[in-house]
Amino acid sequence: MNEAVRLPSVERLLQAPAMAPLQERHGRAALLHSLRELLDELREPVLQGRLSAVELEAAVLAGRVGERLASRERSQLRRVFNLTGTVLHTNLGRALLPEEAIEAVALAARHPGNLEFDLASGRRGDRDALVEELLCELTGAEAVTVVNNNAAAVLLALNSLGARKEGIISRGELIEIGGAFRIPDIMARAGVKLVEVGTTNRTHARDYEAAIGPRSALLMRVHTSNYSVQGFTASVPTDQLARIAARHGLPLLEDLGSGSLLDLSRWGLPQEPTVRQALADGAGLVTFSGDKLLGGPQAGLIVGRRELIQRLKKNPLKRALRVDKLTLAALEAVLRLYRDPERLAERLPTLRLLTRPQAEIRAQALRLLPTLSDALPADWQLEAVDALGMIGSGAQPVARLPSAALRFTPQQPRRLRSRALRQLEETLRGLPIPVLGRIDDDALWLDLRQLDDEPAFLAQWPLLRE
Ligand SMILES: *Cc1c(COP(=O)(O)O)cnc(C)c1O
Repeated sequence: MNEAVRLPSVERLLQAPAMAPLQERHGRAALLHSLRELLDELREPVLQGRLSAVELEAAVLAGRVGERLASRERSQLRRVFNLTGTVLHTNLGRALLPEEAIEAVALAARHPGNLEFDLASGRRGDRDALVEELLCELTGAEAVTVVNNNAAAVLLALNSLGARKEGIISRGELIEIGGAFRIPDIMARAGVKLVEVGTTNRTHARDYEAAIGPRSALLMRVHTSNYSVQGFTASVPTDQLARIAARHGLPLLEDLGSGSLLDLSRWGLPQEPTVRQALADGAGLVTFSGDKLLGGPQAGLIVGRRELIQRLKKNPLKRALRVDKLTLAALEAVLRLYRDPERLAERLPTLRLLTRPQAEIRAQALRLLPTLSDALPADWQLEAVDALGMIGSGAQPVARLPSAALRFTPQQPRRLRSRALRQLEETLRGLPIPVLGRIDDDALWLDLRQLDDEPAFLAQWPLLRE
């Protein structure tokens, strides 16, 4: 093609007037970096004569470098619209924090605070104390400790109570939770020898009794939150298991997973075991997540008997698994909201989203339909339809949340449809605020339960046409 075309030098380009605004905005070092990167990529095409002189003009290159710089400046952690229908979506960050918690986080980030300092005595304090009174009040526990997440809570509890000894657990509770958290593996890592009792579908009190021996350190119960066994089943309830444990002087550790502080059935949601009930039934320690049904920051909460909590706090692992001040600030603010259950559904985003009435979501779908249809290419059909969502994060896997969705069905010839679906999904994912839905039944569904920022959603919609 054009043999005379040469790649301009970095030095010359840096002097070009077109580059000046970029240098002003992003700094010389960043401009140089992106410029070098671009020129490296263009070297080969230039050698092959695939670029014209115009494509290598400073003004054109400045445009391309400007785009690179802008995208480098954008944070990697991006806001998205979670319209998947799964409210507590682990890959999308689970619970959203209430304003009270966001303010508390900002305050803790901006100023020094009494994280481990007792203002009354002027002496060194304990960071768990910031949430201890609240958590004890809300659960009936004697003492608490907080770590990085529930996986860490289980690890710390097992290691503190059962290292080099045996932990007894039902075969029906040897579960795997997404992200390679498996009870047998975590037991092994905690240094606890696993003693399985019973069978997959049925475990009886006598199975536990028969397994208890001189090397036993604890009994464990895991809430099988993410699957359900139906049919010919039997398990030993917490209160009965606690009595067996007590008779042998062993602690009962219960991993509740989602673990709710209040009975959710009062809001018409499926009932999850409450932390208070597990403790009342006699569990010595109960562990649960901060960012599942609780609706707070990522954290692992451990509540229970003071003497057991003390053993956890003395474990050097506690230091490695502890939470930071931002998490504690958010957690305290969220827990405070629980003191007023009457207003909780208005104030806690997780509960507000989970309890959003279907009629309201349907109305929203109908309201958005005309605007969205206008922007849609003709080979798509768009309808407002009823849909079923879920809580997510393993809570109540079989329960469904009646909702409403916008359903995009491709009208192209049959053989082109799955590609069209994938393309639409990709386009939505590529929007400035990516829109994430789900593909099901040869259609793309946007479940609107979690669409609260309608203006931002609509503002980017015309981009679909481009
Ligand atoms: C979710 C879950 C965990 C892990 O909790 P993270 O907070 O995600 O670490 C452990 N056990 C059960 C039963 C769970 O449901």
